[in-house]
Amino acid sequence: MYINNILSKDVQYIKGVGPNRVKILAKLNIRTVLDLIYYFPNTWVDRTNITPINKVRIGEKEAVKGVVIDKGTIITRSRLKITQVLIKDEKGYISGVWYNQPYMEKIFNKGDSVIFFGKVEFFRGAFQISTPEYEIIKTKTGKESADEDDIINVNRIVPIYPLTENISQKQLRKIIKYALDNYLNYIEEYLPDYIQNKYSLINIKQALYNIHFPTDFSELEKSKKRLKFDEFFILQTAFALRRKRIKENKAPVLNIHGELFNKILNNLPFTLTSAQERTLNEIKQDLISGKPMNRLIQGDVGSGKTIVALLSCVIAADSNMQSAIMAPTEILAMQHMKNFSNFLKDINIRIGLLTSGIRKSEKQDLLAKLKTGDIDIIIGTHALIQEEVAFKNLGLVVIDEQHRFGVLQRAKLMEKGGFLPHTLIMTATPIPRTLSLTVYGDTDISIIDELPPGRKPITTILFEDNKKEKLYSFILQRLKEGAQIYAVYPLVQESEKLDLKSAIEMEKEWAEVFSDYKTALVHGQMKNEERDKIMKDFKEKKIDILVATTVIEVGIDVPTATVMVIEHAERFGLSQLHQLRGRVGRGETQSYCILIGDPKTEEGFKRLNIMTSTNDGFRIAEEDLAIRGPGEFMGTRQHGISEFKIANIIRDNNIMEIAKEAAFNFIQQSDINHNQNKRLFDIIKTKYGDSLNFVNIG
Ligand code: ADP
Ligand code: MG
Repeated sequence: MYINNILSKDVQYIKGVGPNRVKILAKLNIRTVLDLIYYFPNTWVDRTNITPINKVRIGEKEAVKGVVIDKGTIITRSRLKITQVLIKDEKGYISGVWYNQPYMEKIFNKGDSVIFFGKVEFFRGAFQISTPEYEIIKTKTGKESADEDDIINVNRIVPIYPLTENISQKQLRKIIKYALDNYLNYIEEYLPDYIQNKYSLINIKQALYNIHFPTDFSELEKSKKRLKFDEFFILQTAFALRRKRIKENKAPVLNIHGELFNKILNNLPFTLTSAQERTLNEIKQDLISGKPMNRLIQGDVGSGKTIVALLSCVIAADSNMQSAIMAPTEILAMQHMKNFSNFLKDINIRIGLLTSGIRKSEKQDLLAKLKTGDIDIIIGTHALIQEEVAFKNLGLVVIDEQHRFGVLQRAKLMEKGGFLPHTLIMTATPIPRTLSLTVYGDTDISIIDELPPGRKPITTILFEDNKKEKLYSFILQRLKEGAQIYAVYPLVQESEKLDLKSAIEMEKEWAEVFSDYKTALVHGQMKNEERDKIMKDFKEKKIDILVATTVIEVGIDVPTATVMVIEHAERFGLSQLHQLRGRVGRGETQSYCILIGDPKTEEGFKRLNIMTSTNDGFRIAEEDLAIRGPGEFMGTRQHGISEFKIANIIRDNNIMEIAKEAAFNFIQQSDINHNQNKRLFDIIKTKYGDSLNFVNIG
């Protein structure tokens, strides 16, 4: 990982790598010698002892070798796909079995010679190994090359690499073995001794050798631990560094006992929940620390984040400093504007709205006022981070629904102050703790885990597509009780490619079925004014049924809307469904969320069932993460997450915790510019330099 000239040599200098192989290896992202050394196996097969099939012990892990004589996939009544590959040796038969991985069938061909490794089971009179580790050692062509018996391929634990076409396990093993034998010595230790000792980590050379060719499984475990630790430690050190650099800056000490603040607090139409109170206190501590606040508020939809943000802005105003609030969409920016104007009605605070939709003259006027300090709170969209926007004294930046903004955009807004302003990020997408260590490692987190009193939990019901009449009579009942309805569709208009209902098409149906009531349509392709007008009418109860796309997903607040119908629910992610559902349940009447869907997979069923069983955003996020994995869960490619080669942020969370502790202590105690630490910081710079650049690593 430490880049020096020898290790960054092109792979073509490795024995056995000619121009052809160079291209093949490039497909695996292997370009240098170092890449080869860091190309880790995804599994290992124990070939120390191959057990004859008639000698296997039930319940034990065994390695068996045989020839494929049959294969096939069946689908059970519960829609589980079971794939079986039957092999035989001279003495007996055993199957490898995979669940819901029908593609496994294609990997094996009759006549292939294979090794299975895993726990032996006895099921319906036959031996089997469920999801065995496997290797195909002889292909249909029947050629088993001459060096099959060489020392890296038999009588040992053998690495299995993710491969591409035209290269075999054996060939890659040989190339990597050569790289290790000739270049491993050039890799230098970069982890301080005391950290290695404290966390019982083996040295880097040993770890890198044994991850490929371990002598036994306990050696392999030690290698994995060291290399996983390293991946996390490097990320966490980057976070620790960034946090330290942020906190080394000065930020204005704000007045948290100001007149405006007290006036608003005393005139609130409700009392803050204790979670809001706690969060506000954490924010106040940051605002008087003299160091830039760098805080994230996580709070489920409807938990009341807005008022906390507003009060924070008022604290800035009390201190004669400006605040900027950035929302992901115009609708949301306008809603914040309305909310803020409401709360600030009789208060001497000047607010403005800057979106790309406003008139040019209006915009010029706003920009001038921001510059002279004649606006205290500016609310806006991306428009806020344009070059031309300048502030007189920006003290606080609030970013709503952070997951929609990239890290860089955030950095850009922070630069606008000339010093680092206080930053508050708000998100309604609860991020499981496991993930927040990775994504928000440098950020303080406040959690609003309590809803304002009087809210009834939303009842979520799963409807099958063919129960339309039942649905409509249910809706009619609610309409008669005075409820307003959202109906959400995945598409704006019909598509030739997708056989899905669209908002435009279905609005007609809703209007027809409920002809005594007023129906309207809202979607992302409408003009802003038009959309705003409809939302306003809906809020004022001039509309009963609002047929929509996911434009209503984030933040929109209409307490009298109490029924949410989501069609093709299986098309939406869990977190997205939860966001949509959060549009109802905002008043004191019982609310309903009706999911209509026809999930085609086991997983799809599971997901929708989670929605009916809980309203807890954190639990839903955990489940969503477990089902989709971290990459997809976050949607975009967030720095850090996708960079891990061997560590898994969910399964290896305990290692993440110790790596975080180690990294933060290390950064607190050590001088990063000390010679001893140079190698480590070179690695961090190479890996995370881009996301660190605005704080200038040494
Ligand atoms: P979110 O966290 O989703 O942004 P909002 O800030 O929009 O939630 O708050 C949702 C609704 O709850 C708003 O109408 C807001 O005025 C109201 N609200 C916020 N805090 C409280 C509270 N402590 N008691 C009662 N209602 C509250
Ligand atoms: Mg909100």
